[in-house]
Amino acid sequence: MDFAWNDEQAAFRKEVLRFAREELKDDVITRDRNEEFSRPLWEKCAKFGIQGLPIPTEYGGGGADTLTTVCALEALGYGCQDNGLLFSINAHMWSSEIPIWTFGTEAQRRKYLPGLVSGGVGLHAMTEPGSGSDAYSLKTRAERKGNCYVLNGSKTFSSNAPDADVTIVFANLDPSRGPNGVTAFLVDKGTPGFSVGRKLHKMGLRTSPMAEIALQDCEIPVENLLGKEFGGQAVFTSSMEWERICILASHLGAMQRIMETCVKYAKERKQFGEPIGKFPAIANKIADMDVRLETGRLALYKAAWLKSQGRHPLREASIAKLYVSEACVKSCLEAIQLHGGYGYMTEYELERELRDAIAGTIYSGTSEVHRMIIANFQGL
Ligand SMILES: Cc1cc2nc3c(=O)[nH]c(=O)nc-3n(C[C@H](O)[C@H](O)[C@H](O)COP(=O)(O)OP(=O)(O)OC[C@H]3O[C@@H](n4cnc5c(N)ncnc54)[C@H](O)[C@@H]3O)c2cc1C
Repeated sequence: MDFAWNDEQAAFRKEVLRFAREELKDDVITRDRNEEFSRPLWEKCAKFGIQGLPIPTEYGGGGADTLTTVCALEALGYGCQDNGLLFSINAHMWSSEIPIWTFGTEAQRRKYLPGLVSGGVGLHAMTEPGSGSDAYSLKTRAERKGNCYVLNGSKTFSSNAPDADVTIVFANLDPSRGPNGVTAFLVDKGTPGFSVGRKLHKMGLRTSPMAEIALQDCEIPVENLLGKEFGGQAVFTSSMEWERICILASHLGAMQRIMETCVKYAKERKQFGEPIGKFPAIANKIADMDVRLETGRLALYKAAWLKSQGRHPLREASIAKLYVSEACVKSCLEAIQLHGGYGYMTEYELERELRDAIAGTIYSGTSEVHRMIIANFQGL
């Protein structure tokens, strides 16, 4: 076992951290309040190479392996406080770029990937008003008509939708097959019958845009089928495996940043004539934050390592996603408590971290669903 980053990864990590601290710094408090996504920061990230990290160089990507990608995303979360931006980038990478790279035809890869790695925006639209955890019970229908598919239905909680260039829409091509009828389609921005509807207002990740989507007799050419007819489950499962491994790498960086803020405060803030860090009740909170961070790293790196070995670590991906998302919420709560009344104030930026972190226990499968998956592996 080797628990160290190699020299190349360590140097890249340092460079990502510098980039995040110097170039992604802006007034997140105001943008969070105004629910404002920053396209300029998105474009800076694309130019630096973040969005293209795992995509092969022939399509304009960085060709990084899974561990290096995770290493960079963790550094990004450590240096950048705009968790909404990082969430949007992750949603884009794992639910649009990766499926196009993995399941796309050569023509689809060449058509979409160079744009998506260099500043374009993608997403997948799976969730519907009536189907969330039970994703394949979706009601959106696809019908083959000559050289087209016609899509009808509605989607909700679609992250990035207001700014997207391409959306991967999951629809059922043959409801008599049940979940096996689900199929994935690429829908370009501006396609007649595809419309981005009501913008959704969120508790956290407010700098990441989200909206509903309506599909009304939306005709797309047959070449926009992604993967095979009735192959939607394979596309979604593969995308979720990547997402569950990698999406919380930035949370690890945030957990380190938050812990360091707490250590500094515990040394500076005095009560009863002593720095509060001298009180065991406060020092223990920091110790627990550190334990959660290190444990989360082990879980997430192991899942990423398995993926880089060509394995399909569904169990380990669920363990990492479940553990890191819940650990991050706990550390945010304790960080607020440790800061007392100041922690509750917006200007200290910890209440935003908490609001952002809670989403991690819901998207990409809720905590309950991940416990169910993990228990299934134990034969339950
Ligand atoms: C910030 C954010 C971003 C998102 N982005 C996207 C996106 O880009 N694209 C997209 O398609 N979707 C997106 N989603 C939707 C997300 O995937 C769903 O919210 C999630 O899968 C849960 O579905 P639901 O909200 O319908 O809850 P439900 O499935 O209705 O669940 C309600 C409650 O019941 C529990 N539950 C459900 N089934 C079981 C079970 N079998 N056993 C035990 N408990 C169960 C759940 O854990 C939850 O606590 C996003 C959600 C959030 C919060």
